[in-house]
Amino acid sequence: MQKTYQAAVYLRLSREDGDVADGGKAVSNSIANQKELVMDYLKSHPEIKVASIYTDDGFSGVNFERPQFQKMLSDIREGKIDCVAVKDLSRFARNYIEAGRYIEKIFPMLGIRFIAVTDGYDSLNEDMGNDMIIPLKNLINDAYCRDISVKIRSHMDIKRRSGEYIGPFAAYGYLKDETNKNHLVVDEYAADVVRDIFTMKLCGMSQQSIADKLNADGILAPLQYKKSIGVGLDTSFQKSVKPGWSYNAVLRILKNEVYTGTVVQGKCTTPNYKIKKRIHKVEADWIRVEDMHEAIIPRNEYELVQELLLRDTRVAPERAEVFPLAGMVYCAACGEPMVRKTVPAGGKKYVYYVCSGNKRDKHHCGAHGISEKMLTESVTGLSRGFIGRAIAAACAMEKIRAAVDTKPEALKYEARIKKLEEELLVCNTRKKNLYEDYKDGVLSREEYSMFKDQYQEQMENVAKSIEGLKAEKEAVQAGDSGRQEWIEALKKYEGVQSLDRKLVIFLVERIEVIDSETIEIKYRFDRVLTEMENLVAFYAKKGGGVIWREKAGK
Ligand SMILES: [Zn+2]
Repeated sequence: MQKTYQAAVYLRLSREDGDVADGGKAVSNSIANQKELVMDYLKSHPEIKVASIYTDDGFSGVNFERPQFQKMLSDIREGKIDCVAVKDLSRFARNYIEAGRYIEKIFPMLGIRFIAVTDGYDSLNEDMGNDMIIPLKNLINDAYCRDISVKIRSHMDIKRRSGEYIGPFAAYGYLKDETNKNHLVVDEYAADVVRDIFTMKLCGMSQQSIADKLNADGILAPLQYKKSIGVGLDTSFQKSVKPGWSYNAVLRILKNEVYTGTVVQGKCTTPNYKIKKRIHKVEADWIRVEDMHEAIIPRNEYELVQELLLRDTRVAPERAEVFPLAGMVYCAACGEPMVRKTVPAGGKKYVYYVCSGNKRDKHHCGAHGISEKMLTESVTGLSRGFIGRAIAAACAMEKIRAAVDTKPEALKYEARIKKLEEELLVCNTRKKNLYEDYKDGVLSREEYSMFKDQYQEQMENVAKSIEGLKAEKEAVQAGDSGRQEWIEALKKYEGVQSLDRKLVIFLVERIEVIDSETIEIKYRFDRVLTEMENLVAFYAKKGGGVIWREKAGK
């Protein structure tokens, strides 16, 4: 059965607020008009019964010192009312911050449904409300942010923002620094296990087979390990945990960014008093601070693993490792993944990759499959070629760096970046001042929201330019930075003759099968290598030609 609501209809009118300033408005905002409008709306909601009508005639909406409003609140507290309906939000309050406190915090806590008819807001229907009331919500949120930054920001929050580790225990692989419990130090024994786990994953093992291997090797799982080294734990908690490594224990480690030296905190929050359970915040709102402690896993390796975890790498039941190309092969004609299929014929087994769309529906797409042998050989050959190109480009770059001074070039970029960063700062300050202007009545709500959007857009554009310039600057300095780490990593695969999973994951983003003999590979480093080659060509033209010819003639 549907819940029935006992509703308060709240009406308010004030000369001070300009509610009755001119004829047209006076009519639309008159108490009678407000009442009629709300009652009319409630007719279409049979689940809402009007319990009482509260009228504050001649009271400003700037504060809540209004007799009927207070009466309504006390009725709410006594449980007589569980729904509040107003014509629009300004009837409820003129102070949007205060209004926000009620609508976003107090009412949800008390389980009160709130309806602002002409704003199209009904707290029961959050999606609709969010659509209609976005400028208001932004404003409220802004106000909260402001509030938080001056008043409520807790001690914990300050610690989080400065990157101090505030968890009760160090993550497996680390220990708490004895001299500073908010700092992590590497626990060599466990760190080695973490490194092994990442390597096993990169080699294509599933979480479960990694767990099995660790258990077989007698490696203590994180909880038992902590106990063994005497880190105190709540014993009641341990009972519910099965001993040994599990799929989830391995997954937790693979997904933990702490191993790259980054502290990530503030992932959860309690949404409001009504909802007790913790919700996960969107990733953009997490507090991430890099380089807070020694990394156990290099960042590029960590990122590869994250990408790997996203892929569909279902393991064939009889094998612990996935096939080198699993999750990488797609049909060029329709974009569907290709699936591995074994066809027995004449006492032999033939393995093909076929379009998964065709498997579902024979006429899905006419693309031909490709034999695994052909596919593997092609990928190996193409990868070998790509690796050769990369090494050649790296060689040429090294010589250029020795011959050409790239510093002045880089300085030019730095100056431009600095200028844009200043612009960003100015924009940000202006955006913040807008709120003051709005509060002081210099700007209307619409103007405030419009200017705010404009600044936001401008800031996004500037930020994009900065990112672009930084990338260009790096390209100029290519090689000095981490950009060529990948070539270093590839060097051991020069002239590769057989594929291993780690190489494929590292090098290849996607393989498209065009027909039974043609494939196309998208490499993870396509863009970077092209950039490098362009740069080599540029310097070759500019007078470094000797370097390039020497390399080409080799
Ligand atoms: Zn297809």
